[in-house]
Amino acid sequence: MQLNNKRMEQLKSDLKSLKVEAKLEIEKAEDLAKLNQVFKKYLGKEGEITRVLRSLGSIPKQNRMKVGREANELKNFLEKKIEEKKSSFVKTMENRKDWLDVTLPGKKPVLGHLHPLTQVRKKTEEIFQMMGFSVVEGPEIENEWYNFDALNIPKDHPARDLWDTFYLKLKDRQLLRTHTSPNQVRYMEKHQPPLRMIVPGNVFRHEATDFRHEFQLFQVEGLMVDKDISVPNFKAIIGEFFRRFFEKEVQFRLRPDFFPFTEPSFDISMTCLVCKGRGCSACKKTGWLEVAGAGMVHPNVFKNSGLDPKEWKGWAFGFGLDRLAMMKYKINDIRLLRSGDLRFLQQF
Ligand SMILES: [Zn+2]
Repeated sequence: MQLNNKRMEQLKSDLKSLKVEAKLEIEKAEDLAKLNQVFKKYLGKEGEITRVLRSLGSIPKQNRMKVGREANELKNFLEKKIEEKKSSFVKTMENRKDWLDVTLPGKKPVLGHLHPLTQVRKKTEEIFQMMGFSVVEGPEIENEWYNFDALNIPKDHPARDLWDTFYLKLKDRQLLRTHTSPNQVRYMEKHQPPLRMIVPGNVFRHEATDFRHEFQLFQVEGLMVDKDISVPNFKAIIGEFFRRFFEKEVQFRLRPDFFPFTEPSFDISMTCLVCKGRGCSACKKTGWLEVAGAGMVHPNVFKNSGLDPKEWKGWAFGFGLDRLAMMKYKINDIRLLRSGDLRFLQQF
């Protein structure tokens, strides 16, 4: 009996000194890691208090209750102290949020890049400028004279139909230009030959979209006027453009076509670079993609621009820049270019 009492007294004094010791260590802990160490030392699985609670089995029942209660009280007390200390750490951290740590490595800003269509436009401008062409701009809102009449497009031509042209509800039947060709006339009105110029810009067409068609396109108009200009001369310039643009030899062909403002007229197709001519959705399984329309400037267009067709000759072309971008970057759906989808755009 006496032995048991002695054992109980020992445990009680153990608890007392543990309380003083643990309290001091909690107060002294300067960070969360230290605090966790204190928790482990006293309240963990192998902790001092846990050890006292485990050893209760070795003393008689009536004393066991008493010591057990004291041990539990101490356990709760220490848990509360540790929690308090922890929240004081969190508060300090929050106050420190405004601090500037000058030793932290900087955040690298995400650098964007130009849209693929802009890259293609810049490249095109650069190449033609090197060949002596001026880069000119024209209005996107045109009138019927420049968009149709001056270009020798008759009043009953299907292109004037509402299905092809976006007319604006403004006076004089103004419209969104369906091609960049009005600028041939605008330029020839103001400049005397010899002329070499290109006009890059947006054009708009009322049409259903698919892999190769969009209702808004990026076109580049080209015009060269001089005394002695011919189709072989055009072919040489375009061949040189392709070489510099694609940075390799590209196969292309001219086939007879019809445009009211050129005579003779032809379309320019190139080997599809997406499928290397084997056939894919981009080239409608033909292996060729039409990228431009061109021809020798029609005498009536010269007349409408105030130039004498007997004196001057010239050729003109209209390239679809979207299609050139498709070929350059091997894009098989034209609609992706204006989708605004970053997953697509970040690849360029
Ligand atoms: Zn193809």
